Amino acid sequence: MNRDSLYIGGRWVPASSGETIAVENPATEETLAHVPAGSAEDVDRAVAAARAAFDDWAATPMAERGAVLGKLHEALSARAGEIARTVGLELGAPLKVAKAVQAGLPLTVLRGYADLAAQPVEEETAGHSLIVREPVGVVGAITPWNYPLHQVVAKVAAALAAGCTVVLKPSELTPLVAYLLLDAADEAGLPAGVLNLVPGTGPVVGAAIAAHPDVDMVSFTGSTATGRAVSHAAADRIARVALELGGKSANVILEDADVTKAVKVGVGNAFLNSGQTCTAWTRMLVHRSHYDAAVELAASAAEAYRTGDPFDESTRLGPLVSAAQRDRVRGFIDRADARLVTGNAPVPDKGYFVPATVFADVDPDSELAQEEIFGPVLSIIPFDDDDHAVRIANNSRYGLAGGVWGSPERALAVGRRMRTGAVDLNGAAFNPVAPFGGYKQSGFGRELGVHGLTEFQQTKAIQR
Ligand code: NDP
Repeated sequence: MNRDSLYIGGRWVPASSGETIAVENPATEETLAHVPAGSAEDVDRAVAAARAAFDDWAATPMAERGAVLGKLHEALSARAGEIARTVGLELGAPLKVAKAVQAGLPLTVLRGYADLAAQPVEEETAGHSLIVREPVGVVGAITPWNYPLHQVVAKVAAALAAGCTVVLKPSELTPLVAYLLLDAADEAGLPAGVLNLVPGTGPVVGAAIAAHPDVDMVSFTGSTATGRAVSHAAADRIARVALELGGKSANVILEDADVTKAVKVGVGNAFLNSGQTCTAWTRMLVHRSHYDAAVELAASAAEAYRTGDPFDESTRLGPLVSAAQRDRVRGFIDRADARLVTGNAPVPDKGYFVPATVFADVDPDSELAQEEIFGPVLSIIPFDDDDHAVRIANNSRYGLAGGVWGSPERALAVGRRMRTGAVDLNGAAFNPVAPFGGYKQSGFGRELGVHGLTEFQQTKAIQR
């Protein structure tokens, strides 16, 4: 699985230094592969290639760009099995999740952008003005490890459809699946320089992209702390930034909810991808009349999340991505000042596993309820009435997602009051064409669907 090149200007090229990054399998702690460690010089080359490609790509009719994305989708779809296997190896995602979400979701999103770009765009007017949308320019895409292909595709497909060119830096922990995208791009015949790959570390490659004078926009997904650093770097030259950051989402189970279903779905949401999901409903807020029952249901649901080999079909909980992430999550568990309901299940000796953990009677102001843990840790909190639930749900510096369970009207009323970018009522499914993004410190800007595309466009008024 070793890779020894960067992808710049439509070609596989050597990195400027001979340094490499070891990619680890978090389920076995063994080195899986090496990839080049890019440098600021490599970023310069990639940005120059993206800049050189920009005018032609921006001038290519949107429908033609859509056709190119369609070919990319075809080439990437042929690699679906390899994508699932790669994410299973470098992230430790259990096979079922790897196939359905880690491979399935980005393919759906890419297909969606190919189709969206193929649709005729109606001209917008305001009085005597013609309003046109134009691509922002060269985009730097910096992505994390938890959904390593989806987060790349959500940015790249939208930016390319909009007419931008892209320099991509995937997470150093999970770069291998990004290589599969570039293999597909190469095969699909994407014009040279339209999509470039520079793997490497955040402080070197990520920082060079964020600060580069010729990068017009930085689209970042990751931690709030790094998002802040990226924003500062971009602010110096007034470059546009889109930030998709952390979350601490509330799953509100109202008095008139189907409690059994709400808890089961809620636990599944919290533990998806070993809890390494920015939208995870990590705070379960339960009406006091159902509280004891919900705690019991959550404990038994959590106990069914068996850890183990991600390639074993019966494994529901893979490892965390790295030793650092496991230690970070364990730190939150060790410091927790709440009632431990479950969390002592045995885990394999090798690998960065943390058992499914549930705390009850969690203080809404405590670290457990306020910090993004990014592991399989659920906090349960009681409330007295709908107003109280809304107050607790909104008592967070984050505002990314959430859930509400109850009669449709009441759930909708509570959902409207939640200060988050998305709310799912009664377990409604994730919608890959609905705008996705945060309020407050969960970031700004939207990904996916039409909103995700316009994020990469400028608006121009032409008076006539
Ligand atoms: P980071 O925010 O550090 O990583 C996200 C991306 O930013 C990576 O590609 C990283 O590079 C890059 N990066 C790091 N430093 C810089 C920099 N100075 N300039 C530009 N880019 C940089 O997240 P972590 O991996 O450290 O995870 C820590 C915590 O962040 C998690 O526990 C979780 O709480 C949260 N998180 C949230 C995510 C979300 O989806 N909202 C996703 C991932 C993490 P590198 O390859 O070196 O890591």
